[in-house]
Amino acid sequence: MADYSRDCPEIVTQVPSAQKERYKSLRNLFIERFGSEPAFFTRAPGRVNLIGEHIDYCGYSVLPMAIQQDILIAAGPNSDQMLVFKNTNPEYRDFTSNIGDFKIDPTNPLWHNYILCGFRGIVEAECVSVPSGMNLLVDGTIPPSAGLSSSSALVCCGSLVTMHINGLEIPKRKLADICMRCEHYIGTQGGGMDQSICFLAETGTAKWIQFNPIRATNVSLPPGVAFVISNSCVELQKAATSHFNIRVVECRLATQVLAKSKGLDWKQFKVLAKLQEALAVSLEEMLDNVENVLHPEPYSKKEICEILGVSEEELNKESLSQNTLEVTSFKLHDRAKHVFGEANRVMKFKEICDQAPSDAAIQLGELMSDSHTSCRDLYQCSCEHLDQLVELCRLSGSLGSRLTGAGWGGCAVSMVPSEIVDDFISKVQAGYYAANPKLQCRVKESLFATEPGNGANIFEMT
Ligand code: ADP
Ligand code: MG
Repeated sequence: MADYSRDCPEIVTQVPSAQKERYKSLRNLFIERFGSEPAFFTRAPGRVNLIGEHIDYCGYSVLPMAIQQDILIAAGPNSDQMLVFKNTNPEYRDFTSNIGDFKIDPTNPLWHNYILCGFRGIVEAECVSVPSGMNLLVDGTIPPSAGLSSSSALVCCGSLVTMHINGLEIPKRKLADICMRCEHYIGTQGGGMDQSICFLAETGTAKWIQFNPIRATNVSLPPGVAFVISNSCVELQKAATSHFNIRVVECRLATQVLAKSKGLDWKQFKVLAKLQEALAVSLEEMLDNVENVLHPEPYSKKEICEILGVSEEELNKESLSQNTLEVTSFKLHDRAKHVFGEANRVMKFKEICDQAPSDAAIQLGELMSDSHTSCRDLYQCSCEHLDQLVELCRLSGSLGSRLTGAGWGGCAVSMVPSEIVDDFISKVQAGYYAANPKLQCRVKESLFATEPGNGANIFEMT
């Protein structure tokens, strides 16, 4: 059993004064839509990952911070056992269902499914036999499908609503754990970074997040730098495509082929960090293992079956996900090489922040840029527009820039000397957004400096 006792920032607080107007208008809209007052609000932030991409689901630590953009839900109970979800954005259609009568459909991941993940996660984890009906009005400011984790903010916000409406109190670390698992109902087999930072973030600090069990440690970023997010505006909805799960599966297969080569019972190993732990060797030695055992050319499914000594049917069951069953070719060498290299960069990043040498910002910037190169070349999770944007950010004066989040589009994050942030933003605006009217009209919400924000909360109006 995980020990959650070393928790936790206060979860129920008052609405910050700067935000009161937004809460008031959401309250008024709730009254308009539901004909009653909301009982409370829940808020869950998006996040930007500074370093450690695609390694949380391999068991390795990551280094994100929460951003100001969020999902905000006004909530009230209903007595007719209904789940009624509405959204301030008309693109997201109303959803209504009886409480015991909904399906989370991974083949059609409409927005309300993410809230249902949070609902189901809490109900199952806490064995709630007769959950309360819920009227919800959702208002989101996180650019969707852009690598800033709007999906997990929805899941986490939905879980908080469910917890509070049913009179439960659950520590934030346990909520992170529940949400990490229940987002899998939508089909993406992610790790726990997004849900962990969503709950455990604190204003003014980035967090070093470790897994098994989830832990969050403050990280002091160097003075004199700012983090600027730039959205390529290429969207990838993770649950609607197999890009993400293919990488998860490639890492799982790399783990199992490496485990088999070491004479271990490969079925016991699903993630690279567990294999490293069993072999009791360093990340550098794991990189040597990659070079010695795995070939750079893609593996066919047949070859993997032969190496592991299983039928295709058994491999499907042991190692693949529902939406990767048709994939026939897997890159194991490059994916594993990225994971071990990136895990190493996270450790170095944390060490530099802790030791704070005089050239800390320069060293951190280099690690961020190396991370992007590895994502682009080894993990192949970037895309042309995002690569161009990252390059432009570097030429515009960043100390380091990289894609952030799952990739294949979405955002870049840049570490920029504070005194040139305005100049940096003008240059990136001119170089990426200005030439294209479709991008130019979205520049305000697509290109901005950000600071480490607070984690998820429940708010009561006073
Ligand atoms: P990311 O987590 O990187 O933002 P995902 O593809 O994982 O991207 O999740 C994006 C999905 O989350 C959207 O397709 C939509 O279903 C849902 N979503 C995001 N923001 C909102 C919002 N404000 N209201 C309703 N649903 C939202
Ligand atoms: Mg997501």
